[in-house]
Amino acid sequence: MKFHSTRGQASPVSISAAIRVGQAGDGGLFMPDAFPADAFETAAADDDLPGFAAAFLAPFFQGDALEADLPAICAEAFDISIPVVEPGEGVSALELFHGPTGAFKDFGARFLMACLDRLGDPAHPFTVLAATSGDTGGAAGCAAEGRSGVRAVILYPDGKVSPFQAHQLSCWDAPVTTLKLAADFDACQRLVKAAFSDAGLVARHRLTSANSINIARLLPQAAYIAFAARRAAADGDAAPGFSMPTGNLGHGVAALMARACGAPIGPVILATNANATLSDWARSGRYEPRASIATLANAMDVGAPSNFERLESGAFDLSGMIVERVDDAAIRTRIKADHERFGYVWCPHSACAAEALARQPERVVRERPWLVAATAHPYKFADVVEPMTGERICPPPALAAVLDRPARAQPCDPDLPALADHLDHLESEYA
Ligand SMILES: *Cc1c(COP(=O)(O)O)cnc(C)c1O
Repeated sequence: MKFHSTRGQASPVSISAAIRVGQAGDGGLFMPDAFPADAFETAAADDDLPGFAAAFLAPFFQGDALEADLPAICAEAFDISIPVVEPGEGVSALELFHGPTGAFKDFGARFLMACLDRLGDPAHPFTVLAATSGDTGGAAGCAAEGRSGVRAVILYPDGKVSPFQAHQLSCWDAPVTTLKLAADFDACQRLVKAAFSDAGLVARHRLTSANSINIARLLPQAAYIAFAARRAAADGDAAPGFSMPTGNLGHGVAALMARACGAPIGPVILATNANATLSDWARSGRYEPRASIATLANAMDVGAPSNFERLESGAFDLSGMIVERVDDAAIRTRIKADHERFGYVWCPHSACAAEALARQPERVVRERPWLVAATAHPYKFADVVEPMTGERICPPPALAAVLDRPARAQPCDPDLPALADHLDHLESEYA
């Protein structure tokens, strides 16, 4: 299997190369040359998630250097359960937050790091460089811990993330380095961009990125969606529908990929927060990226969804796709209402998806099973959720374990010489 660029101006590459470089040379995003329409059927015999995922993803790795390692990669990345919880009549939550950092990003981060670790050379490892204000950095740090073919350097804006998030970005052991910058998130991102524009630095440290356009983050999302669809469809009902909280369209594209691989998936609702780029596009057909606005569901504060080129690439059947925009007031109301009715607590992102489904006509909701993707544990957003429910949220064991670790972020000046200096002295920093 080869991967081509959505812009068609770069040569097709193997999946290993697509994972290694992240983005195609022409600025486009990698897409598989074809979706194996029977991947789901082949995988469906396996009823544990890692085995299912390895079979489901095998066609994408056929002929690649990582082909033989795929079962081991899946055993590492999918060692997390994805239970379906039914808090009340007609509501099914697909809980994707039972990983070590409490959000679905654990799957993509673990899959990506497991691949890079095997592609990398311990004598000259890859360095994943990531600026983050949210779940990605913590998941990437956790997934890189203890590896030898890849290491991680995480940058975050000091004082601009919640205390829990700061801790979760800072608590990982070698080969993970966390740098806190007296700067805002945009400045952190500009600095990472500047590092990637410095050819000497890129070559010296084999810099690579972990952002959501990497195909190694989408494929595991497609695999667990297909697995969840199989389970929901097992009773012979109509193909399940999915309501997905989405920002960069990772979940949106992953659901369409899973469907293209034969998974029984009915309509897909893309639930966004107040950022209106996608809902405007769905209404008018015009795609107008813009600056993001801040919302309660901050991991989805995106005005230019990075996976949009994939959605529009022509590879997908977009029928039955619904976009619902959920503003902060509706997020609050949904969290409060479902806590009162069922005692169930959504994180603000998951609440967007629950609300988006609740807005669909009753006939549409009743004709099939529906799964609402719950993308983060509500504890991670306790400051938003607790005032709505009036109850304290206890950290689940995985997040309590994070809090028990010492934080070890180091200050770094927000300029390229300072970042380069840290990169050049990583070994001594692990000591
Ligand atoms: C990143 C994130 C999202 C958005 O995911 P996409 O892959 O962009 O669709 C939703 N919820 C949470 C909690 C997240 O961290």
